[in-house]
Amino acid sequence: MIARLDGLLAGAVVEGRAIAGFNVFGLDEAIEVVAAAERVGAPVILMTNKEIVRSIPVEVLGPALRAVAERASVPVGVHLDHTYEFPLIYRAVAAGYTSVMFDGSQLAFAENVARTRHVVEMAHACGVSVEGEIGSVSYNEAGSTIKDEPTDPGLAADFCRESGVDAVAVSIGTVHKLTDKSAAVDRGLLAEIAAATDTPLVIHGGSGVPNEDLRRMAQGPVAKFNIGTVLRRAWGDSLRAEFEQNPGQFDRYTLTRAPLRALRKRAEELIALLANGPVPKGIGTKTGEST
Ligand SMILES: [Zn+2]
Repeated sequence: MIARLDGLLAGAVVEGRAIAGFNVFGLDEAIEVVAAAERVGAPVILMTNKEIVRSIPVEVLGPALRAVAERASVPVGVHLDHTYEFPLIYRAVAAGYTSVMFDGSQLAFAENVARTRHVVEMAHACGVSVEGEIGSVSYNEAGSTIKDEPTDPGLAADFCRESGVDAVAVSIGTVHKLTDKSAAVDRGLLAEIAAATDTPLVIHGGSGVPNEDLRRMAQGPVAKFNIGTVLRRAWGDSLRAEFEQNPGQFDRYTLTRAPLRALRKRAEELIALLANGPVPKGIGTKTGEST
């Protein structure tokens, strides 16, 4: 069943768990992620990221992901991640996304508040939830100009109150696109932010966070983790192995069976971990193993 971000996160906060938001790059990936959530019996969020919208328009992705969500037996959100310009947000709202993120993290505070507030007013009028960002989560990527700026708890409180966002991404030491679990999470800062605002908190760069930190933060103040790299890696490593084992194989459908199974397994492990269920077997905790 399809679900809005505000309702999903309110439930997560009350129940002391967090919801996984996964970047998906195709319909087959979306279907596997939802199957993983159904096996665990927990909600999940399908996310469109800023890379995939360059090749597939939100007018195609939105209705397709909604169709996947509507068929699910668990609540599923359809979210457009990191946007910087209003036109894409207008198009995503019209295309059926249940939430959008406006990322004003690179702007001055007043400008971030003003632009985010505009998005909130427009999106709420259409029944769509909004995530903002205060502080800035950097990228493990050559040439990235995105700042690494820890979130100030007082500014976070002001930002949430003045913008009216349904969820807020905060910077507490995580980094986007880490391929190992090397993020040094500042849980003290997270606690200060949580004490300053009632708005549900979102952590980006979930792939780089050690499992024990994921679990503790999910039990505590974090309502949503954005996770991308771990699924890309599961898919890509498996596809590489398929090519090596079957050098004559050219068929896309055949080649992608094992990568999709690998992706689903990782998604299932993480959904269960964040839902505070029993730790499933096979969750990697070794250094260098990304989950
Ligand atoms: Zn992000």
